[in-house]
Amino acid sequence: MYKIFHSDYETKIIWELIDILKETIKMIEKLEFAQQLIDFIYESPTAFHAVNTVKNRLYNYGFIEIREDEKWSLKKGGKYFVTKNDSAIAAFVLGKGDIEENGFKIVGAHTDSPTFRIKPSPEMTSEGSYIRLNTEVYGSPILSTWLDRPLAVAGRVTVKGENILYPETRLVNIKKPILIIPNLAIHMNREINKGIELNVQRDTLPLLAHVNESLEKGNYLLNVIAAELKVAALSIIDFDLYLYEYEKGNIIGLNDEFISSGRLDDLAMVHAGIEALCKVEAVQATNVMIAFDNEEVGSRTKQGGDSPFLSTVLERILISKGRGREDFFRALAKSFMISADLAHAVHPNMGEKHDPVNRPILNKGPVIKISANQSYTTDSNSDAVFEGLCKKAGVPVQKFVNRSDLAGGSTIGPISSTHLDIRSVDMGTPILAMHSVRELGGVLDHTYAAATFEEFYKL
Ligand SMILES: [Zn+2]
Repeated sequence: MYKIFHSDYETKIIWELIDILKETIKMIEKLEFAQQLIDFIYESPTAFHAVNTVKNRLYNYGFIEIREDEKWSLKKGGKYFVTKNDSAIAAFVLGKGDIEENGFKIVGAHTDSPTFRIKPSPEMTSEGSYIRLNTEVYGSPILSTWLDRPLAVAGRVTVKGENILYPETRLVNIKKPILIIPNLAIHMNREINKGIELNVQRDTLPLLAHVNESLEKGNYLLNVIAAELKVAALSIIDFDLYLYEYEKGNIIGLNDEFISSGRLDDLAMVHAGIEALCKVEAVQATNVMIAFDNEEVGSRTKQGGDSPFLSTVLERILISKGRGREDFFRALAKSFMISADLAHAVHPNMGEKHDPVNRPILNKGPVIKISANQSYTTDSNSDAVFEGLCKKAGVPVQKFVNRSDLAGGSTIGPISSTHLDIRSVDMGTPILAMHSVRELGGVLDHTYAAATFEEFYKL
């Protein structure tokens, strides 16, 4: 016979256990979401792959691909995406209301990360025995973090097509640790721990293999890629190939509180933004998630933030609904953009590098980025909007400003603003070791960011 009635003490214990269980479930969900991010980053070693991974996610949620060279016919409440150069993507859920009345709600991020790009005819022998690859630096990686790490190669390969003007492109990902950049032994540089200047033409070329007489002289890499793609090496005309750290990211820390992974900047925001866009059903306004390429090298490409890509997509959405240019400008006046790119958490060993007051901490929530010289777009108006969203989502929020005597980085926000004069805030989750081959973020912050974007899209 079960006992139905409990004493007050027993009831209290039961409620406490239920609360503990609820908290445990929430924590498991946050860990799962962080693991999804790690998987997403692992499947996205380059900007091209990031777009491909995003596309697959969008297809799962019923989004339809539309092409730049086609006439767009869009339905209210419909879900669509368009890509640029295979490395930038704009996805949107067309609002149920009139666009000129309700505007666009945009989250913007970037697909690229600092790395090394492989040069043409890359094989270089040394000592008559080693084959190294000739590379150049993409963006501004912390070079020393790339040393002594197993590295792999991925990117886009262009092969002969039927039409000279439109060669075919293929994505390639050699998921094998085929490269490494070895350090110089401390015995040959006793000063190494006082800081080392690495020469990017001499010191950072990765080692690929031993010269092997049985292999065809030269074209080692091309043969590996041709074999992977199952095409003849001769049909490969050119490539956009990059190095990446072979090892997958991890959740680390005594209590599983941190995410250790490459390319958190800015794939964490791409992931959070896309997940939020997919989860929110159509509202009155049109929800947009855009991920540009080439932020790390100044955004000045056709697929970068300093291009008409976003502006063109927004205007074409209006054109497809029979609206004119004035309607476009009216829609912009009703729009808001969250420029989402990661922020600096205060460093546990080097706190003096930060502003004395505003000191973001890992796992304490999204960070609003502020700069007097407008290297971030945030002003008190857009700050208030974002703080309101965080409050609504029930997540904590922090602020970042540079130490006054240090110059910080910039992001897509101000660049985008030169093309689209809409209200905008710059934010991002806090991380340590930005631009290291392995950055460090917080498990909770990732869920917080996605929850805030969801609230934004729900408005
Ligand atoms: Zn970034």
